[in-house]
Amino acid sequence: MDELRHNRQFSVTELLLTNSCLLCGATDVGELPLCVGCRDDLPAITHACSQCGLPLSGGALLCGGCLNQPPHYDHATIPLLYAHPIDQLVQALKFNGRLSVATLFGRLLLDEIVKRGDRTLPQRIIPVPLHPTRLRERGFNQSLEIARPIARTLGIPLDARSCRRVRATASQSSLSARERRKNIRNAFEADELKGVTSVAIVDDVVTTGNTVNELAGVLRKAGVEEVEVWACARAD
Ligand SMILES: [Zn+2]
Ligand SMILES: [Zn+2]
Repeated sequence: MDELRHNRQFSVTELLLTNSCLLCGATDVGELPLCVGCRDDLPAITHACSQCGLPLSGGALLCGGCLNQPPHYDHATIPLLYAHPIDQLVQALKFNGRLSVATLFGRLLLDEIVKRGDRTLPQRIIPVPLHPTRLRERGFNQSLEIARPIARTLGIPLDARSCRRVRATASQSSLSARERRKNIRNAFEADELKGVTSVAIVDDVVTTGNTVNELAGVLRKAGVEEVEVWACARAD
């Protein structure tokens, strides 16, 4: 981890000051560690498939993928596109251990969840678990860190124990779509969730959706009726 930290190029302004913009260093920030200009420049998703969060250009409610083969989750709330500068922030979080980025992502996601306002809130929040080996390497689970401010503000129990990653899978980013599906199969297990009918899975970035879909399937088998996905960014 230390080696990674030193070897990686990190061009986003690295500031130890808390009252400054994480991206440009400006000091006129409010509650978020972002200035108004940088916040407005974030690559927002304006219209997306209501089920999987895939950005859509037309006015359709669902994407072709969800119409053909719906995922195990019912709804996705994903405010941002995985593009510059979100990609840099994700790198900074995962490989440089910038936990302030997780707080920022949590706050941005929370704003989106509050904004949509039309859905009943889930009974539990479940961050996508990391395999213990990966957790040891990284020192933290970024999804759990993103979920913390959301759970706290909404008053929903954060459950980082009921689900486990039981297979140390290869990094999804180096694989083809087909390999990704195979790679993640049977990666998770969950305890029986007695009395819990609705949960939100929290992830940092949804790429193909295979990871959250696999976990959603496991949660459904564990008795959860309604599963939604809350993630910061979605690949196009
Ligand atoms: Zn800024
Ligand atoms: Zn879809």
